[in-house]
Amino acid sequence: MSAFPPNADLGNPLRAMPSVLSIRDLQRRWRRVALEMQLGLDDLEQLLRLDPLAVLRGLRAANAPVLRGSEPATCVRGLVRNLGQALSQRLFDGEPIVVAGTSSLRTLWRHAIATGVAAEDLARRTNTVDPGTAYLVGLLHDLPVWLRTIEAQFQPQAGHAPAAHWIEHWQFPAPVAQALLALANGEQGPPALASLVATVRDGERLAELADYRHPSDGEDDSDSDDDPDAVDDEHQELGAIDKADLLAAQRVRRRVEGALRTFGLDPTIPDSEGGPLRTDPRFQVNRSGGLDEVVLSVLGCTRSERYRGIITALTAAAVRYGTYDRAFYARWNPAANVLVLRSKADASSRRLQADTLVPLPAEAEALAKALREERPAHLVAALGQRHGVLGTLGTDELLAVPLNREFALPAFLLLDRSVTLAPIDHERDSKLATTLGLTGSLLNENLLLRRRRQRAQKFAVIDPLTRLYNRRMGLAALEREVARTERTHWPLTVLMCDLDHFKHLNDTYGHLQGDVALRATADVLRKTLRRSDVICRFGGEEFLVVLAETAPDDATVLAARLFVAIEAAGQALGLPMTISIGLTSHRPGDRAEDLLHRADGALYASKDHGRNRFSADIDGYEETPQPANNRKGPTSP
Ligand code: GH3
Ligand code: MG
Ligand code: MG
Repeated sequence: MSAFPPNADLGNPLRAMPSVLSIRDLQRRWRRVALEMQLGLDDLEQLLRLDPLAVLRGLRAANAPVLRGSEPATCVRGLVRNLGQALSQRLFDGEPIVVAGTSSLRTLWRHAIATGVAAEDLARRTNTVDPGTAYLVGLLHDLPVWLRTIEAQFQPQAGHAPAAHWIEHWQFPAPVAQALLALANGEQGPPALASLVATVRDGERLAELADYRHPSDGEDDSDSDDDPDAVDDEHQELGAIDKADLLAAQRVRRRVEGALRTFGLDPTIPDSEGGPLRTDPRFQVNRSGGLDEVVLSVLGCTRSERYRGIITALTAAAVRYGTYDRAFYARWNPAANVLVLRSKADASSRRLQADTLVPLPAEAEALAKALREERPAHLVAALGQRHGVLGTLGTDELLAVPLNREFALPAFLLLDRSVTLAPIDHERDSKLATTLGLTGSLLNENLLLRRRRQRAQKFAVIDPLTRLYNRRMGLAALEREVARTERTHWPLTVLMCDLDHFKHLNDTYGHLQGDVALRATADVLRKTLRRSDVICRFGGEEFLVVLAETAPDDATVLAARLFVAIEAAGQALGLPMTISIGLTSHRPGDRAEDLLHRADGALYASKDHGRNRFSADIDGYEETPQPANNRKGPTSP
């Protein structure tokens, strides 16, 4: 139901703040606002007395199944603790809904507030009932009546739901719901709640003594002016009045008036007088922040390397600029019919307890439509809906903004005003929501593309098996070094290395062991050579090593070390691993191909001479004998 009047713009002090706000940031700022206004957190409880509907919504949001903790937020103090942010925002920014009300609604409200105050007072004195709960039940005891009054005012055609429906709709904790039902039906309630119900009834009697009457009593009075018995009836209804009652009534009166004054509302304006209640100018805050600001604040995280940064920016911007009380980021799996909540930003301090929502068929259909049309969907709860997305989040309505519909699991921003009462105006709210959705989608996509590109770039240059450069990178490096050598005349040496009888190793030990041998060879090359040397996997079991600024003599020493290390690595693995190497150095005028060609020739010479050795083609195809101490006998004759 979205029966409430389109409120005046809700000025929000948080909206005027620059930069994306974290929740912690929001809390800090709120405390500062409260301080400047000389309000303590206790005053919030008094604020609540001015706006029971906010209490109602806050209570339901606080009890939402996704948030439900170990203890239900039954009392106002608990509510304030759990939803302080959102409630105070509502009470600061918004004009209480009473403003738009008729005199009878106002009268109802004062009656409700006074009953709550009186019930709390009684509970404190008798010590049998929790005062917070007594206050809350007292405040809400006429709930069905005032909801009907509001409905009638804003939706005259709407049918009147029975009291039980309303009570169920707001998802109260069980004791509160049972007590309210008993009060609505004029029953005593279950034994455990009998004293609570009785306390609230007595509270109502005190409220009436304090002259905060139920409006229907007033109507009865005027109707029965001609009836001489009417006054007696009334006194009978109120029962015997003793001195303690009168004193209590006086206290109630003082406390209600005090509450009204504290928050800039003039208690002397009679209920019958129309027009809005006056609000303290301290509580009127200017609204600012356009779409450009929203986009900028979200784009502020463009360089974020993680999706979480984007999600946080999106949800925070929705709360800040969209006057939403809560923003959830959820991934939708239509096949399994679940929405998985990933993140939540809101002005309350409650954590998510559950993370999966199961959409009702109508909700799933609306989500699918939103994805198809790339437009926010406006979901509205049916009266008493306790399941599905809305029921589980404990809200009347929300805007589901599609994001990244082409992702494997599309995402949604779920935005609600669960506490602040401002209705969702599909047309007006969609503009900001769509902006958020598109900006978020772009950011997500941008990050996805960046990640893909990074991966592609990596695999374009790296051989996945050995994590060495691939052939293309090896050739590029060789060409670069050749050019440099032509310029600087520094020496440049290349080694072409090839594992011996590798086919045999594969055939004997299997391909997996062959791969292990290739990786071990790569490790040896990495460890033995300098970081500035370029090593690449040139082909199957062939490796090209480009040694910049290295003369053939030094390269020879390196090559000799490689033999020992490769064979040792093979022994450690239980594999017969030896290597043959062809070595050559750059001559003036050489191109990369010339070097490769000569290194290949030298490698073949090594193979021809029995393997597990190196040959060098330096200065006119000259075979250099290997140093005696490093010489290995050929592995095959
Ligand atoms: P030689 O001593 O003359 O070099 O003999 P060889 O058996 O090492 O030479 P040949 O070129 O005939 O065989 C190379 C073998 O390397 C053939 C191929 O199956 C194997 N090989 C190439 N790439 C891979 C790979 O990625 N993994 C494995 N396990 N084997 C590979
Ligand atoms: Mg080989
Ligand atoms: Mg080979």
